[in-house]
Amino acid sequence: MNAKHDTPHREEQQGKADPLAQTHEVFNQARALEDYNAYDNDTALREAVRRHGAGWAEGTLSAHGARTGSAEVIEWGFLANEHKPQFFSHDRQGYRVDYVKYHEAYHRLMTLGLESGIHSAPWADPKPGAHVARAAQSYLQGQVEAGHGCPLTMTFASAPSIKLTPSLAKEWLPKILNNAYDPRNVPHTEKQALTIGMGMTEKQGGSDVRANTTRAYPIAAEGSGEAYELVGHKWFTSAPMCDAFLVLAQTDNGLSCFLVPRWRPDGSKNPIQVQRLKNKMGNVSNASSEIELRGALGWMVGEEGRGVPAIIEMVAMTRFDCMVGSTSGQRQAVAQAVNHAMGRAAFGKTLIDQPLMRNVLADLQLEVEGSLAITMRMGEALDNTTLDPSNEHETLLLRLGLPAGKYWICKRTPFHAYEAMECLGGNGVTEDFIMARLYREAPINAIWEGSGNVQALDMLRALAKTPAVLDVWFAELAKTTGSDPRLDKAVTSLKREFADMDEAEYRARDIVDRLSLTMQASQLVAAGNSAVADAFIASRLGEHGDRNYGTLPRGLDLGEILRRANPWESS
Ligand SMILES: Cc1cc2nc3c(=O)[nH]c(=O)nc-3n(C[C@H](O)[C@H](O)[C@H](O)COP(=O)(O)OP(=O)(O)OC[C@H]3O[C@@H](n4cnc5c(N)ncnc54)[C@H](O)[C@@H]3O)c2cc1C
Repeated sequence: MNAKHDTPHREEQQGKADPLAQTHEVFNQARALEDYNAYDNDTALREAVRRHGAGWAEGTLSAHGARTGSAEVIEWGFLANEHKPQFFSHDRQGYRVDYVKYHEAYHRLMTLGLESGIHSAPWADPKPGAHVARAAQSYLQGQVEAGHGCPLTMTFASAPSIKLTPSLAKEWLPKILNNAYDPRNVPHTEKQALTIGMGMTEKQGGSDVRANTTRAYPIAAEGSGEAYELVGHKWFTSAPMCDAFLVLAQTDNGLSCFLVPRWRPDGSKNPIQVQRLKNKMGNVSNASSEIELRGALGWMVGEEGRGVPAIIEMVAMTRFDCMVGSTSGQRQAVAQAVNHAMGRAAFGKTLIDQPLMRNVLADLQLEVEGSLAITMRMGEALDNTTLDPSNEHETLLLRLGLPAGKYWICKRTPFHAYEAMECLGGNGVTEDFIMARLYREAPINAIWEGSGNVQALDMLRALAKTPAVLDVWFAELAKTTGSDPRLDKAVTSLKREFADMDEAEYRARDIVDRLSLTMQASQLVAAGNSAVADAFIASRLGEHGDRNYGTLPRGLDLGEILRRANPWESS
């Protein structure tokens, strides 16, 4: 147990052993939010899991929720962040090693995530609800610690890209989908379980990967599955101890995608040199590196010159995980805020009973409800398209839903985290509580894997290339037509927006906001909790308009919303 988070014996703490040292009694502090079941006590999550076809996973999810809510696992999250990864370019004898050393707590979190199949389950055992169950598991895991979620996500997301080249898939996928963690710094050929990272971003261009200058030269034969040597650099490559990376590099025929192992199959070190680790403001348990590729071996994934379509398979999944991850951060923030408000009194009343605090907390919970609703609907769409790739409705729903959902949820999270932090008052600012870490994590997902504007522009690209995506979006919204006139009005007004596409780029954020909000509201109506749906629509689509958190209009059923927010209540 880390001394910083260790609770001293109460008698000792209050100085009863020595009356002269007894300066004061500690009271009116909320109990620590630990040793609770993060799944059983999350009504919104449980309902979403059942609604979207993953009811069969509840036993596993409940067990996972008990683990992620345990004091032990929560402590791993703190330790993995207090002890940042350390980079060693050389070993003690002077050999180049490019080694990143993590704290044991990070390895434990990785073990928990990988043994739970967060990186593999829907690919290893595709069935109705598999993506939803896996998203729920990731949502629970992310509440403890977000940084290690990066390699879990990248490993999960790599599978669809690697499948594009059967020879690589045959060799690599069984080991990628193995539910085990092997952090040894040895060639992939000597391991049974592998993790995968990605290298797209370069100094001169991140969003615009066409500006990449890294080159790939064929060693002998050219084309899919063949070996190349890569020369260049990557400005952001997270989790550099992964066993291999999907990397974009130019060939004579354009940008192509490569699987670049950290070691060559002959046991020699593949020349990927880490220059340094990024000194990040958040996500610090996750090492992000700058690398140089000095003739690094890599095998082409997908077709030559089709690197973007190849890696976009991976990017689509990481964007989904940004939705899951940011929603998970929102849930943990609300759980902490409600826990504090239940255990703290001010001006004669427990905070949870102060009308203005109830307004703030319920509004924060509504944000979680909306985020979870659209995320799990997209999870169901992933299940439907994994099981039936010809399912056009679900494919087109994802095409808009992933950029829109990623944009909206990730953008809402920093302010949400800040507001939840403020519910804890000064405690929220100290590193002893998780709030400060949640706040520092909050902007990361919005920037990673396509920043806000890039998502909004991707939504426009989808509209231009496949106009049917809009018909599908409105068909999905039509499932709840007539349920609430305010929602109907918002949908009608949104439809009008598309009649005139002048200055569409300039308006893209406004459009994507409204696509997301109406879909969230519609999903909440469909979910059937009228207190939640009514309050969400009243505060976000009604006359009232969306302002700061804590400005909910009167006449809403806050008791029901706060009951759902309570991390101690299983209902
Ligand atoms: C914690 C973390 C981990 C990361 N890990 C990885 C990794 O493992 N692998 C990897 O490849 N990358 C990684 N990245 C990099 C990340 O994906 C990029 O930073 C991101 O894609 C943005 O690219 P950029 O930094 O070059 O910014 P730019 O592309 O320069 O964008 C700057 C700003 O301009 C906006 N913008 C861009 N184009 C337009 C336009 N046409 N119109 C309007 N606005 C526009 C963007 O939205 C953004 O706000 C990581 C980043 C972070 C923060």
